[in-house]
Formats: sequence, structure tokens, C-alpha cells
Amino acid sequence: LSPTGPKETKTTCPYCGVGCGVIATVSDNGAVTIKGDPEHPANLGRLCSKGSALAATIDLDGRVLFPQIAGQKSGWDEALDLVAQTFSAVIAEHGPDAVAFYVSGQLLTEDYYVANKLMKGFIGSANIDTNSRLCMSSSVAGHRRAFGSDTVPGSYEDIELADLVVLTGSNLAWCHPVIYQRLAATKAARPQMKVVVIDPRRTMTCDIADLHLAIRPDGDIALFMGLLAHLAASNSIDHAYVSAHTAGYEEALQAAAQLALPDIATRTGLSESELVTFYRLFETTRKVVTCYSQGVNQSSSGTDKVNAILNCHLATGRIGRPGMGPFSLTGQPNAMGGREVGGLANMLAAHMAIESVEDRDRVQRFWRSPMIAARPGLKAVDMFRAVADGRIKALWIMATNPVVSMPDADAVEAAIKTCPFVVVSDVLQDTDTTRHAHVLLPSLGWGEKDGTVTNSERRISRQRGFLDRPGEAKADWWQMAEVARRMRYSGFDYHNPSEIFAEHAALSAFENEGRRDFDIGTCRNIDERTYQALRPFQWPASLTEDYKEDSKRFFAKGDFYHPDRKARFVAIKAPAVTDHTCSAYPLTLNTGRVRDHWHTMTRTGKSDRLSAHIAEPFAEIHPSDAAALGIQDAALVELASPHGKVILRALITPRQARGNIFVPMHWNDQFASQARIDALVPPVTDPVSGQPASKNVPVAASGL
Ligand code: SF4
Repeated sequence: LSPTGPKETKTTCPYCGVGCGVIATVSDNGAVTIKGDPEHPANLGRLCSKGSALAATIDLDGRVLFPQIAGQKSGWDEALDLVAQTFSAVIAEHGPDAVAFYVSGQLLTEDYYVANKLMKGFIGSANIDTNSRLCMSSSVAGHRRAFGSDTVPGSYEDIELADLVVLTGSNLAWCHPVIYQRLAATKAARPQMKVVVIDPRRTMTCDIADLHLAIRPDGDIALFMGLLAHLAASNSIDHAYVSAHTAGYEEALQAAAQLALPDIATRTGLSESELVTFYRLFETTRKVVTCYSQGVNQSSSGTDKVNAILNCHLATGRIGRPGMGPFSLTGQPNAMGGREVGGLANMLAAHMAIESVEDRDRVQRFWRSPMIAARPGLKAVDMFRAVADGRIKALWIMATNPVVSMPDADAVEAAIKTCPFVVVSDVLQDTDTTRHAHVLLPSLGWGEKDGTVTNSERRISRQRGFLDRPGEAKADWWQMAEVARRMRYSGFDYHNPSEIFAEHAALSAFENEGRRDFDIGTCRNIDERTYQALRPFQWPASLTEDYKEDSKRFFAKGDFYHPDRKARFVAIKAPAVTDHTCSAYPLTLNTGRVRDHWHTMTRTGKSDRLSAHIAEPFAEIHPSDAAALGIQDAALVELASPHGKVILRALITPRQARGNIFVPMHWNDQFASQARIDALVPPVTDPVSGQPASKNVPVAASGL
């Protein structure tokens, strides 16, 4: 072969929800270099440490390269036949709700679409849930309650156009680094712009904050209820917008007004003067964006927190206008794409509602499917409970590692161990979850697979393969389509992801006529060549038209997706003041991400550079707590909850609030023994969204 010169491929970073464009260059000798794509609107050439280290994570060490049954190499036909026969037999004997898929925000939209179609439209159960449940399902529920649709109203550029950016439950600097870079650059150029960070910890994001509110865990509802009451009292309500485009304002205000300032101070742990400073800033600044992330979502009251924030933006009409709006920052690269195909147990497809008879009928007719799931399925925590108690007898896990990432992780591992039939599709041979697979299927990894992802601002981008497919690895959509065909279902004759994307686009437009927000119908006849060349676009932009200003935002003129086209305020009841701690478990554990690792480190753990930033798991403790417990800096410390124990190194720092402990979520048994922090997190969930509460866990700490 003669050298052909370096080959460039435009693709998308596989990590966080910012969705940065990446240019991967493969040289003649196979070496890969990575740089940011200057033409991608999300990052304009920027990358963070994780994105720029992607080349160090794509080797084949540890890869699963061929299908395996009971740990022994098998052929694809044998493995797929076994999966199809076992799922069919379980469904025949116990009904469709005896099987389940647990999928992932790492899947591409095309994979997600096939998984959702197979489970909801052909197996006839809605038992498909995703690790996105742990990430942003409270945002989905809050959007749907307020807007009648799961719509993110704004764009990243609003964060740069705002005069006040409120970051609540978001360590933007480490968790969405390129958005942080954009914000920091804007603030440097326009120092009068104000940044408020609401977080129990003084995180790195606070380095650009004008005001840091070290709020008590779960104090957010009281904070934003108080803000709504303050906005009303200071004549800051946009009554024209409220009366034309919303319903329920009076009830929401009445509920919010129940809390007096001293009560809010108690519930938030903030001083009255801090509260008033924040409220005055919000009141007097027209262009406000409130960004929120897992600190809001991962709570037993996460959906109410989201609606408390949305209430304040609706009341002031600060939504869908340049530099104004609430902004949910999703954690994963394709959490949004998963939402678009309905890959959650309580959603249908293309933002249609599983509770709606008309929507179910519409989707079933479109799919020409024999049945359609008639009710919501089991959400993640309940799904693994059902595995534990034997109701789920066949489980297919794709592209995720629940033995590390689920709350009550030891119980989840025990449940998977006892499940009669477990299929795992993954890129790695040996993870805490693949160890328990009866059938292990080799999937394509980043750089090998093809499809689309949607980032936090509704921008659909291509992930493109530029590496040879290793061993016998196959795309996840192909694996599911093959199993569907073997289960004798029609409608799965896909040859490439472009056909799946075209079908997904067609479904989004099917009998839509403006009833639903998600409509990418202009892509429904997309051919392979156009799909390969697809440039990032932000729905509802048209694929074929030039960029339209209208595509950037929703709701400036109302037109919400409830039947009366009005938004709903939610009258939020202040939760009882509860202190979950007790004498046995006197500290509050908060879990989260570090800058240079991703999820359970199966990829970022391969990079020496990324691992050098923080080499081992740690527990961040306030100096007073450490002194009271006799814990020395860098000494080993045991953390315990009623659900499990971990051993970590103490990091004593005044950045941590007194009484709180922070531990990163990433480390697993592969990288550090006894460091799976989610083993300590109880399976407590938000009653509306089903999202687990990973930020407010009572624990005990002791030095070793
Ligand atoms: Fe990747 Fe997120 Fe970093 Fe962008 S900000 S390079 S999407 S990890």
C-alpha cells in the first residue's frame, strides 16, 4: 500500500453534554491526533483536558473482541440466537414485563432508537431505562410539567449574552469545561457580567464567581421559592407574559410566599443578607441565565427544584430571549438524543407521551408494530429491585456499568448475580458489570462507530468512525436488530445508521403539525451521502434551510406544548426541614465528578496524563470536621453508610462546607479497592422523576 497522507475525520467528543466537535487525524503509520473543530458551534475549536486526551484512550488493551457465552468464545450467530431464544422464552412464559433493557447516554441516537422500538413496540413492555435516569430525569420531568414538553429553551450563546449567570448545582469548571471556558472568556471581556455559584462546596467554578452561596444540601427549593416571592414583592413580574402565556401563577406565588426570609435562611444555611444580595441581583438584571445540573437533579426533590427555578424565569418572562432563560446542562454526550427517541421508561418516542392513547396509537401505526407498551416501565432503581426479587428474568445491559454507578451498588451487583439471564454489550472485557454476563457482546467504541448525538443545546452532531473495527465487534444497533429479526419481528432490516436516523426523523414529523417540539422531519429522506456529510444543526432548525435565528430558542412568545399552549407554574410545597444525619451517621456525603475523569474511568483511566491530575479517590473534609474526628490530611479514612463502606484518602480543605464530605464518583474496583462510592448511596428517589438522590447521604467517617 502506498501512503495516502493523514486523513482527517470530523466527529464529536464522547464525554460530557457540551458535545464538542473534534477533528481526529490518522497518519499513515496509524497514529491518531486530536484537536478541537473550529467550525463546531459548541466549542469553536476548544477542547478540555479529557477531549484533548482522547487519542490516549483508544488502544485495544482490555477490549472484548468476540462474543462470549459463559466466558467462552462463541460465534455471533450462536450468541444472538441464544439471546433471542431466551428473551422469547421468558416473554412467552412470564410476559413482556419479565424482561428489561438497561441502556446508556453513551449510546448513539440510532442505537437508542432501535432499543426503544424493540422494547416498547415489539416486546410490548416499557422496561427500558437508562443511566440518564441518574443524570437528568428530574429536568425532563420539570420541563414536561412546566412546558408540556421536554424542551431546553435556550442556546449556549445565551450564557455569553447574559449579564447575570446563576450556576446552581453545577461545577461547570470541571463538569462542562468548555462552557466554563466560554463563560470565563466572556467575563474577562465584560467584567461587569455577574456570576453567582450556588453550591455547598467552594468548587473551582467559584474562581470566577462574584457571589458564592454555600447552600445546605437540598436548600434550593426554599431559595428559589423565596426568589419568586421577592420578585413579586419588588414588582418585577412580567404580568403581560404571565397572563398571556402561563397558568397557575397565583397558586405558585401563594405557596412561595409561605416562607419568610428567616425560614429560608434556616433551610438554606445562608444569611439573610446573602439571600437579599442574590435576590436583588436577579431582580435588577434583565438578562439572566440560570444553569443547573446534577446538584439540582440528583435529589429526592429534584423535580420540584427544577420547577422552582422555571417558575422564576416564567414569572419574569426571561425565557427564550437572547441572554435569558433556564438552562439544564446534561451530563452525558447523548442524554438528549436518548430523550428524543424516548429511551426512558416513562417516555414514548419523539417526545410523545406514553400516557397518551393517541400518541401510543400514532407510534404503533408508524412502527407497524404488533403491540405497544401500555404503561410506563420500571425506572432504573425499581428495575434493579425487580431483578433482585425475580420479576425480571432476562436483562440486557448496554454501554454502562451499573455495578459501579447505581445507588446501593452492592445490592445492584447482588441482583445482577442472581438474574437468570444477563446480556452485556460493552467494549471492555472485564468491568464490574461484564463479570456477571451470561452473554457478553463486543461493541464498537468511540472512533469506530457511526451515528448522531444531541448536546445540551439541542444540537445534533455526527460521531464518525475513523478507526478499523477491532476483532468481531459490532454496532449496538446491529446487535439489537439481529436479535429482533431472530425474535421474528419485522421492521428491523437496517443496513446502516443513516436508515435508522431517517426513520427516527420521519417519526418526529409523523402527524406532528406543530403539536410537539421535537421535529427533525426535514431529515426523513436523508440519504447515505448527506448523512455522512451532515453538519451539526440545532433543532428545530431545518436541515435544508440556512441557519435561522428562530432555531436558537423556544417560548419567547409563549406557544408552549400543553393543549392550551400555556406554560404551567408549579405550586411547590416547601419540603419539611429534615436533617438526614444522626449520631451514627453525622456527616452529609455529596458525590460528583472530577475534572479529568469520566464516569467509571473505563476510558479516561487509560491516560497517564488524565490520571496524573488526581491519582486516587479522595474524601474532601472540612478542617474542623477532620480535627474533631482526628483525621490527618492524606491519611486513610473509612466512610460508612447503612449500605456500604469505602476507604479513601482524606483531603482536608476549607473549600468544603462544615458537616459535608465530597467524594468523586469515578473510581471502581479496577482502579482502587473499596472505593465504589455509590455503594454508600441509598436507593432513595425523587417521587416524580425517579432520579436517585446522590447528593445528600448521611455517612460516618473515621480515620484508619
Ligand atoms: Fe468533551 Fe465535554 Fe471536554 Fe467538550 S467539554 S471536550 S464535550 S469532555
